[in-house]
Amino acid sequence: MGIPVKSLKAQHHLFADPTYQLEVLRHAGLEEEFPPFAVRLQEHGLYPLRPTGTTILQINLGKMCNQTCRHCHVDAGPDRKEIMTRDTMQLCLDALAKAPHIATVDLTGGAPEMNPDFRWFVEQLYPLGRQIIVRCNLTIILANKKYHDLPLFFKEHGVQVVSSLPYFSASRTDAQRGGGVFEKSIKALQLLNEVGYGQAGSGLQLDLVYNPSGAFLPASQKSLEAEFKRRLLSGYGIVFNNLFCITNLPVSRYLDYLVESDNYGSYMEKLVNAFNPVAAAGVMCRNTVSVGWDGLLYDCDFNQMLELKVAPSAPRHIRDFDLQRLDERAIVLNQHCYGCTAGAGSSCGGETAGK
Ligand code: SF4
Ligand code: SF4
Repeated sequence: MGIPVKSLKAQHHLFADPTYQLEVLRHAGLEEEFPPFAVRLQEHGLYPLRPTGTTILQINLGKMCNQTCRHCHVDAGPDRKEIMTRDTMQLCLDALAKAPHIATVDLTGGAPEMNPDFRWFVEQLYPLGRQIIVRCNLTIILANKKYHDLPLFFKEHGVQVVSSLPYFSASRTDAQRGGGVFEKSIKALQLLNEVGYGQAGSGLQLDLVYNPSGAFLPASQKSLEAEFKRRLLSGYGIVFNNLFCITNLPVSRYLDYLVESDNYGSYMEKLVNAFNPVAAAGVMCRNTVSVGWDGLLYDCDFNQMLELKVAPSAPRHIRDFDLQRLDERAIVLNQHCYGCTAGAGSSCGGETAGK
């Protein structure tokens, strides 16, 4: 057996410290039991893993958030100061101008709306004709008067809204995201519905995200979506388009939860045993480049939180953006990647196997 993960944690002051996180993923007495993720890919002819062509630029506008959810992989919260500047946003716009094949710009955070230049950025993106996604946590719409008109702002700029709702009950949602979050989320969804979001024929897309509340894999996306639709409509009159099921990756606060609850080993075992080569072929890092709040480039949001920058053969800052070199890179992998390839697969757009 390797070093107990809790004693690794004791050596580090911050649980979100990327060095600690990578050590936990490497140790825990699991090295001999579980093959490195890269070896599993090799067995299926997928190593080195390379992009299939970048079509999504996911941009993290900052780590500030009005919530502090228990499983947040960003370790976001009201006290985080990291925020993307307008200059860095301009570099993202310059990069997009050079890359017409990037059809989607996916804005995330923290709460991206809390960035003081959020609206300016969306206004610049809108005329480019790309699909704009905002990962809105719902409660931000009610958090302050200055956010109350967000549903209309989203509508006017053709934004696709993607929002987390851990469950259709207050107890499970509040346990994961904080007291009162369910009630506010329901109110925010009703406000989005009122301006047309999720309504048939409106063209205004509203998608929800489900992730498990404990150390288990999500159930089938199709059956959960049907149940969410039924319960939200009958209980609150809410409609939405799609439900995306996302597996929790052992990163940041969720990794901390696994370590604290002694679930780390058994959870990794579940992920490793559920490895699905079809899901592995469809992981989101193959068509996405992730931009950090400071302009640094990553293969995905999770690698960003672990400070695993793109391979040195590729440009590593948005100012040096070069899509051809990025599309030739080998994707940086680690044991947390098992979270993307378990079962039906997982990405920011939900299941990946069978898409
Ligand atoms: S999960 Fe989302 S809403 Fe919750 S703290 Fe993290 S960024 Fe904020
Ligand atoms: S964690 Fe990131 S790099 Fe690893 S497989 Fe998932 S998307 Fe790709």
